[in-house]
Amino acid sequence: MLGMLAAAQAQAQLAAQPKEVVARIRADSSERVARASQALQSSRSILGIGADSEFVPIRSDVDPFGITHVRFQQRYRGLKVWGGQLVSHVDAGNRVLPYSLSLHHSPVVDVAPRVSEGTAIRTAAAKAGIQGGFTVAPQAELLVYPVTRRAIAARYRGSRNIDATMMERRLVRNALAYHVHLETRNRVDGDVSMEVIVDAHSGEVLDSWPSLQTAHARADGARSQYSGTVSINANSTIGGYEMRDMQRGAAGQPGRPEGQYANNLVLDYVADTPAASHAMRDETNTWGDGANYTAGSSNPDTQQTAGVDVAFGMQASWDFYRNVINRSGIDGLHGWATFAVVHDPQSQSGGANAAWYPSCFCMRYGDGSPESGIRNLTSLDIVAHEMAHGVNQFAGDLMYAAEPGGLNEANSDIFGAMVEFYVRGGGLASGAATIPQTGGNWTILDEARVPNYRIMYKPSLTGGIDEWTPKLHQAGPHRASGPMNRAFYFLANGAALSGSRFSPHLPDGMTGIGNDSAFRIWYRAMNYYFTMMSDYVAARQALITASQDLFGPGSPQEQAVWNAMRAINVGPAWSAGATCGLLESGRQLSSGSSVSSCDGRYGLAMQGDGNLALYRHPGTAVWSSGTGGHHGAYAAMQVDGNLVVQKAGLRAPQAVLWHAGTWEYPESSLQVTNDGNLVVRTANGLPVWYRTPPTGAATVATSSGTNTTIDSADALNAPATGALGQMRFGTDHYFRIQVAAGASLTLDFVGSRLIRSDSYASDFWAVAIVNASGAQLAQASTDPYNTRATTSYRNTSGNPVTLLAKVSRNIFWPGGDLNIHRYALAVRHH
Ligand SMILES: [Zn+2]
Repeated sequence: MLGMLAAAQAQAQLAAQPKEVVARIRADSSERVARASQALQSSRSILGIGADSEFVPIRSDVDPFGITHVRFQQRYRGLKVWGGQLVSHVDAGNRVLPYSLSLHHSPVVDVAPRVSEGTAIRTAAAKAGIQGGFTVAPQAELLVYPVTRRAIAARYRGSRNIDATMMERRLVRNALAYHVHLETRNRVDGDVSMEVIVDAHSGEVLDSWPSLQTAHARADGARSQYSGTVSINANSTIGGYEMRDMQRGAAGQPGRPEGQYANNLVLDYVADTPAASHAMRDETNTWGDGANYTAGSSNPDTQQTAGVDVAFGMQASWDFYRNVINRSGIDGLHGWATFAVVHDPQSQSGGANAAWYPSCFCMRYGDGSPESGIRNLTSLDIVAHEMAHGVNQFAGDLMYAAEPGGLNEANSDIFGAMVEFYVRGGGLASGAATIPQTGGNWTILDEARVPNYRIMYKPSLTGGIDEWTPKLHQAGPHRASGPMNRAFYFLANGAALSGSRFSPHLPDGMTGIGNDSAFRIWYRAMNYYFTMMSDYVAARQALITASQDLFGPGSPQEQAVWNAMRAINVGPAWSAGATCGLLESGRQLSSGSSVSSCDGRYGLAMQGDGNLALYRHPGTAVWSSGTGGHHGAYAAMQVDGNLVVQKAGLRAPQAVLWHAGTWEYPESSLQVTNDGNLVVRTANGLPVWYRTPPTGAATVATSSGTNTTIDSADALNAPATGALGQMRFGTDHYFRIQVAAGASLTLDFVGSRLIRSDSYASDFWAVAIVNASGAQLAQASTDPYNTRATTSYRNTSGNPVTLLAKVSRNIFWPGGDLNIHRYALAVRHH
């Protein structure tokens, strides 16, 4: 069955709904959640979800387009499936749009634990090395944990310059496991927040990572008055004032009785439990002196100054959420209160830290480290950074490890920088709804004089990471954030042709779209399209989708997203040119979208049921990939040239449902022609896959493989348009070509990328025109990555001549790439 989706859907930027419509949809939200749940229930079979799985709504929100986004958690026999999330998007007309999802299709596992919860907690505590006891009771949750392994996709094995899209995550097995959360602060262990996954059958530790979400100020605290003279809100009480913002956070704290922690509040550190600390107070409502506080100082004004900075940063962030992104507080819905503890000794780092704690919905700020020159860690970008960890908790909820951890940190740095532009560029003072282009900077922690402060436009200047690499997931969140920080800078501000704002992956640079547009795209992606396991590739896709929602498909903003991600080695650059009838290299057809032939008579649609189908309008199916039954599957014209249909979620070999077999022809594209054909063409125009042979396809020859000398050359006479071949390193292939008197011959060559995981950069393809005695008349060679080359020769002899095209593959070190690689040689006479 091909299903019914026939017409090409006109794609356009989403239209904002009138406020009253959005308000009405918000008021109906329980009905919409029920609608989403019901639709999900009836999509079970095409989602490939068995009867043992169910979906529990965990959050919902309505955006200004009237779309209700409902986030579901996958459960298997009542147990949470780690990383199994699905976001359903229900539009104003109550239609269910394609899902954002990362599901585990058949997490079959024996759900009876053989290890007790207590044992799992003891195992986890031993793994974490905790000796001094717990100040917060450890928690353990029994769940299904897919054990996965990251690997380079088989077809890229042996490659150099691995792009993020070439990686895949392979499922090893599903485990029944305890997710143990450990949190404590005591004299022996310091400040610990740790996640440990313990196998509930074998008792083995499957994974563990520290989860204290910090500003990582191994430095810096800065002039306590980082923001000059500011106005903050205080609460008038008997005998004086306390630093409590009566205008923000009135809903109180989640899960706490109203009262003590109602309204956003700044506490002065007394002891590690918040109850023992007390609100910062002043008798006359005059706060701070702008000086950096150092331990032992007895000046009460200096003592207050850190509180002034934090109170100001909290209110500025809060107002930024409200004015710029229409968000109610950190949680986005209730406007729950948060509190901050200042002068917190941050025992593990000697005070040089600031952190967000999900368990108390609160923050702690250290005084820095005078010995290291680090000032109080209370500058505006730091406070905005910590608050944004809270925002993440109620949005994509990216886990704090591996690539998602890097994106989590990048989110906080992006918020930190944007709040700074908003405040210092005058946005806050005027209550602006947009983020100014000036006033802030692209450095985080710099004011606090942290020595290795973060530089968003070039993280490596202070020891960070500039671009995606296969090892990025091992780098820890504060370094794995580097590439995303840099991509966000490029998106907002552009990339240069040289210098520290240059990327070798985007040699021609790019124009930025401005802070405001860049941030809106980022925020929409992280709020609605990220899931806890989103990595850089998923982030790219989410950003592209968000840019299409906000600015329309193909808009300059969408193009900028492509290029900014290319600049950090994630996916291809935007390619211009006629897009009519084409799925270009690197593009995806997501569920529900389609490409039409230029005359509109044929449409290739990625159906909601996972089938890729070609229709003749109106509604006659003429071809399909036969991959129905996989809801959310998408088609991709991969950068390596292969056209694939694959399941959403896990990117794994078993996720590929169908493919055209056209790998190793980089930058190929898929054409939907006016005569109803589908053709994958190489970058130099040769058809390598098609429904029916296109005009001229029959004249594409295939190298015999024995054409390794001039004498054994394959004949390739007009009207041959070219040849396809494959070879190992150190080989030559010859093709004999007749060239008329006065005519020119052009060879247009594209070969597989010669990319390897070692450091040899000297592999290349060469294409030459030689005469019958082997003398070279013209020649061109490629580099390992840009593997297209053209060369021409004009026959001025006055007679027809026989020339030879010579294709060769050279390698710097023969022990390296032993694989056979494909090439496509296009031949033009003119
Ligand atoms: Zn952080």
